[in-house]
Order: sequence, then structure tokens, then C-alpha cells
Amino acid sequence: MNYFQRFIVKPDSRINLQDSDPDYKDQHKSKKEALKIIEHNNLRLRELQELLYAEHKQSLLICLQAIDTGGKDGTINHVLSAMNPQGCRVACFKKPTSLELDHDFLWRAHRDAPAKGEVVIFNRSHYEDVLVVRIHNLVPKAIWRERYAQINAMEKYLSENKIHILKFYLHISKDEQLKRFKQRLDDPSKHWKISMADYSDREHWDEYKKAFEDMLSKCSTSYAPWFIIPANHKWFRDLAISQIIREHLEGLNMKYPPPSVDIKQIYKQYFKAKKHFS
Ligand code: AMP
Ligand code: MG
Repeated sequence: MNYFQRFIVKPDSRINLQDSDPDYKDQHKSKKEALKIIEHNNLRLRELQELLYAEHKQSLLICLQAIDTGGKDGTINHVLSAMNPQGCRVACFKKPTSLELDHDFLWRAHRDAPAKGEVVIFNRSHYEDVLVVRIHNLVPKAIWRERYAQINAMEKYLSENKIHILKFYLHISKDEQLKRFKQRLDDPSKHWKISMADYSDREHWDEYKKAFEDMLSKCSTSYAPWFIIPANHKWFRDLAISQIIREHLEGLNMKYPPPSVDIKQIYKQYFKAKKHFS
């Protein structure tokens, strides 16, 4: 199944999240049954990331957005577990610091954009400035309304600088969120993750839905597409995302750089050294 085409948000389409099934899991019945594909994807991802790092010409930026408990942390854990930590980094977008607030809203995103050869995952992103900021009226509508075009302009600029951008919206249902809140409550090792804002934000579910739909409709472009990932089943979410990243990296036609030395010459040196030893 080509998940890239299946879950991509076509530029200029009008998204209604009701049309996407958060429970979707393709023909797979369970994680166990899909394990072979998941493992294959992870092995390929590792090879491709190595190639990206070695080639040192382009880079990958992965943005994750979701409602609380949507699975951002779990996705990062899964995707990163396939990669070499050298060449991979996570940037978390929390409530802006006073330094960040003294700058334009895109400053902190640009600051954390990947260097050549690097993979960077944004845990939340500059899209918070048209999500939480919009819902809690942190800036006037006249300001956040302009931000969609500003985001598109920045992403275009990054992509012109060989930063490939893939953006994943993790789609869970309201029921599933409640289930996950309960699981967190019942597991003392997850208590640190709970905040009052999670519950109060649930009261804004419909406003968030509208804000996510606007973000997906206005900011999915050919150079920085959004994908709507069914995320009620964690293993399917991980499978779909790894596959999309894999498909994208495979399409880049990356090559190992040519050696900076004369390999024949180095062979000669090697045989000379070997002779000396024996
Ligand atoms: P967490 O990711 O659960 O650690 O929470 C981070 C919190 O920071 C979330 O409640 C976000 O909505 C909030 N946050 C992120 N970016 C912004 C922003 N630009 N303005 C206000 N709050 C933000
Ligand atoms: Mg949270």
C-alpha cells in the first residue's frame, strides 16, 4: 500500500477530519501480523539515514502535531529507534520563553531547522502559533490569520535550501483520548505527563478540530505536505509514518560521496603494511 499517496493532504483541498477514520489499519489485523513490515521499514530507514548523513547535501525535517495524548512522544521513540543518534535530533516546542517571545514567531523554528545531512523531528512546531495561540486568543485574529501564508513562505524557503519537510498530524478520536487519559492515571510512571491543561483543552475539542482542519487545508503544499495519520492504533501510526519517511527518502536518489583519497594508493599502503607484519 502506498501510504504516501493515501494519507497526503492534496494542496488546496478543504479538509474535514470527519472524513478520516482514526481507527483505520489497512488490511492488517494486529501489530504481530504487521511486524515483518515494521521491521523491514526500520532497517531501510537506518540505511537511508546513513546515506543522508554521508551525502551531506540535504536534510529532513519531520513535524508532528496532535492533540494531547495523540502519540507524538511514542512516534518519536519509534522513528528514532530506527536511526543512528549521530545525525538525528528532536526539538520540542513548549510555551515560548521570554527570549523567544521577543522574536518573530518563526524564529525558534528556523533556529532548530536541520543542518545538511541531519534529521530533525519537531515535537510540536511553529504550527502551535495557529493552534493553541488561536484557541486561547494569545494574539488577535488579525495576527494569526496572516501566519498561514508566513509559514508557507518559510517552508518554501527551507525546501529551496534542500531541507525536505514532512508533516504528520496524528489523528485520534475523542473516545481514544479519554481512554489514554485513564491509562495515564492508572500508571504512576506516566503521572508526570499529566497537566490540568490537557483536561481543560478537551473542552475546546471542537475548536481544536477546526484549527487543525485550517492548518491542514491552508498549509499542505507540494514542498511541505501534511499527512493525516490514523493514530488510534499506535502500531499502525508507527507503520504508516515510517513507511512514508522511507518512501520519501528512497525517492531522493542519494549517493555516497566519492572518496577523498585515491583508493588504489591506499590499497598499496595496506599491502605494504601487511607485508611488514608477516
Ligand atoms: P508538552 O508538549 O505536553 O510538554 O506541552 C507543551 C505546551 O506548550 C503545550 O500545552 C503547548 O500548547 C504549549 N505551547 C507550545 N507552543 C506554544 C506557543 N507558541 N504559545 C503558547 N503555548 C505553546
Ligand atoms: Mg502534554
